[in-house]
Amino acid sequence: MIEDPGMHMKGGIITQKNKDYCTIRTRMPAGILSIEKMRGLAAIAEKYGQTEVHLTTRQTIEIPHIHHTKLEAIEADLLKNGTPVGSERDEIVNIVACPGTDRCKFANIDTISLAMKLDEKLFGKEMPTKLRISISGCPYACTSPILNEIGITGRKKPLRTPGLCTGCGHCTEYCRESAIEVRNGAAVVNDAKCFQCGVCIESCPFKLIGIETQGYRITVGGRRGRHPKLGRELVEVGTEDEVVEIIEKLSYWIYRRAWSGRLLSDQLDDIQFEKFKEEILSGRKE
Ligand code: SF4
Ligand code: SF4
Ligand code: SF4
Repeated sequence: MIEDPGMHMKGGIITQKNKDYCTIRTRMPAGILSIEKMRGLAAIAEKYGQTEVHLTTRQTIEIPHIHHTKLEAIEADLLKNGTPVGSERDEIVNIVACPGTDRCKFANIDTISLAMKLDEKLFGKEMPTKLRISISGCPYACTSPILNEIGITGRKKPLRTPGLCTGCGHCTEYCRESAIEVRNGAAVVNDAKCFQCGVCIESCPFKLIGIETQGYRITVGGRRGRHPKLGRELVEVGTEDEVVEIIEKLSYWIYRRAWSGRLLSDQLDDIQFEKFKEEILSGRKE
């Protein structure tokens, strides 16, 4: 019998097939974990009789098979270790991010810093519907931002300098979208094909390619699961602070206006997306 329904109902405490046991999901923005916390987590798992932990698709660690009588004790241990109980219900769940500029040569934005800021402000907030946020440093989109309720992708648009290009064609070999062609002795970019990964910018041996724009593309209403759906483009902004401001506004809108029992992606079909977009972006300075 469950003695403490309050604790048992918490996001991050997942009832197993045998209802006497739970899996404990932790909070781990961007999947970052210090060695010290990792040792601590291993010790906690051992203390509660486990020999294994589980890595989730949302970059957290779960400790399985915890008896319901031990929930409060393990919650306190996890909090002390700096790896508190996470979330998985109708709330803002673990924020996912690729390594970004910290490690990846393709990255256009600092994904980790953004994930930490968003986590600090928004993690675990109760919502009428589950809200997943995913951040990718470039359009290679390793964390599939477009398949999340809120997705953020770092982009960089190349800037050509007319008259200086030698037409050597070196940059064309770097573009996986075949968006660059050499015509009449100069490289020409097909904007319809260019997905703003920024890779060609570094490729020119003469440093002739500049940056026209660099920013964060925000998409809304994507989802994975049984009926996957692509998110729709809300806006592209130039700074991390602007992203945080828009995501806060978005989550507040969802908290107040969305309804429960239905995924956000379906709700965006019912309301007019353009109207929703206008409302979210109103009052912003361009
Ligand atoms: S999404 Fe881009 S920046 Fe992030 S890990 Fe993948 S290739 Fe690197
Ligand atoms: S930014 Fe990327 S997609 Fe666009 S032209 Fe350069 S390499 Fe190609
Ligand atoms: S690598 Fe530089 S010089 Fe060569 S075609 Fe591209 S932009 Fe022009």
